[in-house]
Amino acid sequence: MNNVLVTGGAGYIGSHACKALARAGYRPVSYDNLAYGHEWAVKWGPLEKGDILDAARLGEVLAAYKPSAVIHFAAFIDVGESVRDPAKYYRNNLAGTLGLLDAMRRHGVEKIVFSSTCATYGIPDIVPIAESAPQHPINPYGASKWMIERVLADYGHAYGLRSVALRYFNAAGADPDGELGEDHDPETHLIPLVLDVAKGARPNVTIFGEDYATQDGTCVRDYVHVSDLADAHILAMQGLEGHELRSAYNLGTGEGHSVAQVIACAERVTGRKIAATRGPRRPGDPATLLADPSLAKSELHWTPRRTAISDIIETAWRWRRGR
Ligand code: UDP
Repeated sequence: MNNVLVTGGAGYIGSHACKALARAGYRPVSYDNLAYGHEWAVKWGPLEKGDILDAARLGEVLAAYKPSAVIHFAAFIDVGESVRDPAKYYRNNLAGTLGLLDAMRRHGVEKIVFSSTCATYGIPDIVPIAESAPQHPINPYGASKWMIERVLADYGHAYGLRSVALRYFNAAGADPDGELGEDHDPETHLIPLVLDVAKGARPNVTIFGEDYATQDGTCVRDYVHVSDLADAHILAMQGLEGHELRSAYNLGTGEGHSVAQVIACAERVTGRKIAATRGPRRPGDPATLLADPSLAKSELHWTPRRTAISDIIETAWRWRRGR
């Protein structure tokens, strides 16, 4: 059996990647401390409980399963918290990854697909954003991911590590078969919050700023379906077997939707009125973030299939209303 170690395999994107791995004929071995991940989300392979900072446990799991590659999701992802408590982010995300890479070297695992983010670009001068755009993260979360990308490049030169970083734009939606979905606690992301209002679980959603230089004044983001993201990890991992890949690829659709458009679309999809209130800007939010995904398409042969925002919201709604 071709084992692949998936750190953070019980999390939102990690669990969707496990499903995609199983479908492609691999056995996903989830390594997760279940601090934010969910045991119910591990359905396509074994769950090995453990912390990313626990080098001995990581070594044990690598020795037991001898994976051909690692897909590394385990990380803290709350931007605001990273500003308040950067030590937590550098320790878990950066030091945790260094420990993982050491364990991989000890056990002869040479391939890693790394879950990165468009937060490495900070506030871009030009949108859509190409991979060659300057990296100026503006918060410790984005900085921790960018530092890891640098580490991966240096380990490649020095130790022959084969790696690729995937910079996600706004991951959204849920497994179209309804087997998995987004379940963060606390929830901070726009689409699940909007759907909670539709469901009656929250009274309203706050729009963070209506005075941006965008068509309707609200922030524009590039929402990309989580199952499309999952597929990109398999392609990237397979790409590491053969031809030379770039160090990083953007994963987005290249199309933007404003906060107001997302709310309006969610009203159409759910058939319910969604109460929205006006709030101040959220610190550190750029007006517009859009991917230029051409390299992922041409070099990873990635074809996102669920690019319509209505489709993304519809899969998320099917999941969320059933929770
Ligand atoms: N947003 C909002 N209200 C909320 C949550 C998010 O207006 O309660 C906006 C946020 O300012 C951003 C967009 O929705 O422009 C997407 O935010 P999210 O937190 O989902 O993802 P991010 O862009 O931070 O990765």
